[in-house]
Amino acid sequence: MIASVLPTYARAPLSFVKGEGSWLIEADGRRFLDLGAGIAVNALGHAHPALVAALTEQAGLLWHTSNLYHIPKQEELADKLVAATFADTVFFTNSGTESCELAVKMARKHFYDAGQPERTEIIAFEGSFHGRSSAGIAAAGSEKMTKGFGPLLPGFAHVPFGDHDALHAAINDRTAAILIEPVQGEGGIRPVPDQCLRGLRALCDEKGILLIYDEVQCGMGRTGRLFAYEWAGAAPDIMMVAKGIGGGFPLGAVLATERAASGMTAGTHGSTYGGNPLGCAVGSAVMDMMTAPDFLPEVSRKAGLLRQKLEGLVAAHPDIFEDVRGSGLMLGLRCRTANTDVVAANYDALLCTVPAGDNVVRLLPPLTITDEEIDMAAARLDAAASALENRPEAVRA
Ligand SMILES: *Cc1c(COP(=O)(O)O)cnc(C)c1O
Repeated sequence: MIASVLPTYARAPLSFVKGEGSWLIEADGRRFLDLGAGIAVNALGHAHPALVAALTEQAGLLWHTSNLYHIPKQEELADKLVAATFADTVFFTNSGTESCELAVKMARKHFYDAGQPERTEIIAFEGSFHGRSSAGIAAAGSEKMTKGFGPLLPGFAHVPFGDHDALHAAINDRTAAILIEPVQGEGGIRPVPDQCLRGLRALCDEKGILLIYDEVQCGMGRTGRLFAYEWAGAAPDIMMVAKGIGGGFPLGAVLATERAASGMTAGTHGSTYGGNPLGCAVGSAVMDMMTAPDFLPEVSRKAGLLRQKLEGLVAAHPDIFEDVRGSGLMLGLRCRTANTDVVAANYDALLCTVPAGDNVVRLLPPLTITDEEIDMAAARLDAAASALENRPEAVRA
């Protein structure tokens, strides 16, 4: 008999009932150190007092009105995002994949209004992930997500990650935009080199097409800058945001320049819940903390500490791990043994990590993780790797 919850996830046998900072407490009382943060969502850890206060204060005032009216908390958060980024304007969604839907619509409308209605195609990259909506799966294009769900939304082309020649060859007079994650998340924590992002920006300018970044996972402080593109100094025209922006409250956004967004006039797009007062009250508090002077430098300092420990871990367990990759506190351990076995061994060591493509284990801790917790994480990863090495059936690479 089918479970009452649609079984689209192969869930770990864990039920967490409470969170405190970097810790998750299981129903049986065990305390897990959380290096997954709900897949980069709980950027400020669990139950952060400032976020609890922002949410409960708003909850006592007003939950929902609709975008029929001005929503002061939405305008406040949009102003903060515009002040801190390349963007001139923001639309709020409830998730990353809804942000993908609007990013695609916005790019197409831009060219429609510019008298180039044939420019509808979006070029995306193999190994990317843009969510599970029809546009999201068509954009990523991987058979794992699209098989059985045809006909796919047309208008997407795919090129191999890092293949400059294929990218140039894919651009034609139907191209509207290039869509890319500055750091691939689900694909296995694969950063796009800074000079490649700058090259993409120059290419888009030269061809007169739009550049769309998906910073749903790598944005919101994750890499030590508010958004990952800042490291390269190559701004997009449109950017998808979600995950960390709500600190655990479902919230997403599309940021855009005035030029890219000019076709999105009244009536062209909407959302019942997008930009809801509860989500925006929390998002606004998240932004305040992330833009405080010490916050992002601390993320970078702690990222250096964690990375150093992970290099040591890889050196100590060459049969289990191959290398460390990533940026800031968005780190991946490429494994020599099955990444799912490593994740399971980490659970046994009371540590939450997340598998990704390319046989990688992702480490996406709360950005508020402490030095002491980083030490504990390293010790638990080490214990888990030792346990795997001592498996009777351990296979040497
Ligand atoms: C998680 C993710 C999405 C989809 O976000 P949802 O909120 O699950 O719809 C899109 N793009 C990237 C890069 C992501 O990591």
